[in-house]
Amino acid sequence: MLGETLFSFMDSEGLEIANAYLLRRHQGIHETHDFKFRCQDGSDLWAIISCAPLLDDEGNYGGALGMVTNITDRKQAEAALQESKQRLDGILSSLEDVVWSISADTFETLYLNPAVLKVYGRCASEFFDNSNLWFEMIHPEDQQRVHAAIQPLFLTGKQELEYRIVRADGHIRWLLNRSHLIYNACGQPIRIDGIATDITERKLLEEKLVHHAFYDALTGLPNRILFIDRLELAIAQMKHNPDDLFAVLFLDLDRFKVVNDSLGHLVGDQLLVTLAQRLQQCLQLDDTVARLGGDEFTILLSHIQTIEDATCIAEHIHQALESPFNLGGYEVFMTASIGIALGTNKYAQPVDLLRDADTALYRAKEQSQAGHIVFDATMHDRAVALLQLETDLRWAIERQELCVYYQPIICVTTGTIEGFEALVRWQHPERGLISPAEFIPIAEETGLIIPIGQWVLSESCQQLRQWQLQFPAIKPLTLNVNLSGKQFSQPRLIEQISQILQDTNLSPSNLKLEITETAIIASADKATSVLKQLKAFGLQLCIDDFGTGYSSLAYLHNFPIDVLKIDRSFINRIDSDTEQFAIVRAIVTLADNLGMSVVAEGVETIYQLAQLKLLQCQQAQGYLFSKPLDQEQARILLASGQSFLST
Ligand code: C2E
Ligand code: MG
Ligand code: MG
Repeated sequence: MLGETLFSFMDSEGLEIANAYLLRRHQGIHETHDFKFRCQDGSDLWAIISCAPLLDDEGNYGGALGMVTNITDRKQAEAALQESKQRLDGILSSLEDVVWSISADTFETLYLNPAVLKVYGRCASEFFDNSNLWFEMIHPEDQQRVHAAIQPLFLTGKQELEYRIVRADGHIRWLLNRSHLIYNACGQPIRIDGIATDITERKLLEEKLVHHAFYDALTGLPNRILFIDRLELAIAQMKHNPDDLFAVLFLDLDRFKVVNDSLGHLVGDQLLVTLAQRLQQCLQLDDTVARLGGDEFTILLSHIQTIEDATCIAEHIHQALESPFNLGGYEVFMTASIGIALGTNKYAQPVDLLRDADTALYRAKEQSQAGHIVFDATMHDRAVALLQLETDLRWAIERQELCVYYQPIICVTTGTIEGFEALVRWQHPERGLISPAEFIPIAEETGLIIPIGQWVLSESCQQLRQWQLQFPAIKPLTLNVNLSGKQFSQPRLIEQISQILQDTNLSPSNLKLEITETAIIASADKATSVLKQLKAFGLQLCIDDFGTGYSSLAYLHNFPIDVLKIDRSFINRIDSDTEQFAIVRAIVTLADNLGMSVVAEGVETIYQLAQLKLLQCQQAQGYLFSKPLDQEQARILLASGQSFLST
């Protein structure tokens, strides 16, 4: 460097500073500047030049005393720091999360990254100006919780918290806030740093999933899971406070299937939604109404004083259903049946309460439509017995416990036996003879009626054919066999009947199938074609228990019916009740006009028979002539050639 000035090793920026200094040096001011020099090997050398001008007494500049300190390392560290700061700024600015820092004592805002604008809807400066803004923006319902979390943060040093904020535009956002306490060298907390992540979308999804898990999608009501949960709570509460009664109502619409089948599922859905609303209007806020599925609803009445409070609500619900439902242009009237179970401390499990309310509902349905019944213990015993009966019934066919009884059908004018009605009986190993009135409904409900019905048909056809052969002198006997609604809508019915007729060699014209009006109406669309096919076969069709169902002769005229069997309830009073007599007369006349013949069911007295003769009713059946007989008794009766004319 000898012979050269320091200036020759400086970069242009340094030269500028140096030249400016040269102009000022006579002022005698001590100056210090950073310069960058170029070393011989091309590398940079950063130095501080500290320069003190030397002036003589007159103040003339006489030279300078300087010191050069190598600060290359420091400069490089500073540059690196700057670079890392820039990088950090870049990262912080690009983050979606709010990165923040506040002082640990005053909670004054120290740092905020730009994301605060997007998440909070406010710019950083607003937080710098108002250190309370953080707290003010927290959702009122969450403020207490967030406030309570401050002290634990100072104990543990870090924390994660989820809460809502309300933005100036009213939008609510969910935040996940992770805070860290920062300490100074003495271990004193100085700052709280943190990251706040907007988790609103996640929360909404979670909410949706929870809703999906606990609420019914159609009506928005709680579902079975949530209902059971609430019921569990009520049972637990009762353990602590036995006077705190509650009740479960199990509700089911009486003819929902009809709406669904006739007006379609969309209208059915609409009905359920409206029903849900009406139910809610009948209840208090802390009661729970849930949809279990289909048209089944359950209600938990949380605080009642007596069972009358529950029946009162049930009545209220019946009333609320009295006005029609307006469903997409259709006006539909609906009734519901309700089973009620009172929550007492004998219940440990929610399902037990539900079961009992359901049992009571079943009873309510049996008794009438639009009714309600409170559960009592005997119903449970009955339900258990029913279940046992069902199990036994499954074995009945296989164990040959079923048999067919035959009740003669008599010609009213001649008193001779013209045929029999086959009536199934069940010889139960423990309970003895069980009436079909008891087990046929169970068989229908469980579908067991299909094999039972087929067995009865085959057994009785075989029997009748045998009698026809045994007693050729008697004009060909006919056989009436009952067909339940389920059998009637069974697709293979025709095929099975034709097979049985073939196997037994019985003429189709000797077989009469008895169907109730209710069964025909329940599947009116299919009925016409099935009945027509049966007719085409040469069979005869009877309406059983006429007068107890829909009772519209005009309607039944649409179906190919041959015989009307007038229900016992009309016959048993025709001798004493002139009105009943008039009704039966009208039925006989109408049936005659429609080309149907008439059988009177349940004739028990000679007076009734006399009236029937008067009305020119063709056939009769009843205890007056004979009770249903077993096969042997019936054979003896036939063999005796007895005429009932004498009766
Ligand atoms: P249903 O077809 O109306 O049969 C007539 C019922 O009235 C029979 O009762 C019969 O015993 C009874 N009965 C007959 N005459 C008199 C009388 O003078 N007075 C009184 N009080 N009752 C009389 P049962 O045998 O108990 O049958 C009841 C019902 O069970 C039948 O009513 C029928 O709907 C059903 N059922 C019976 N057997 C079968 C079957 O094999 N298949 C199907 N699907 N249903 C059957
Ligand atoms: Mg019958
Ligand atoms: Mg009948």
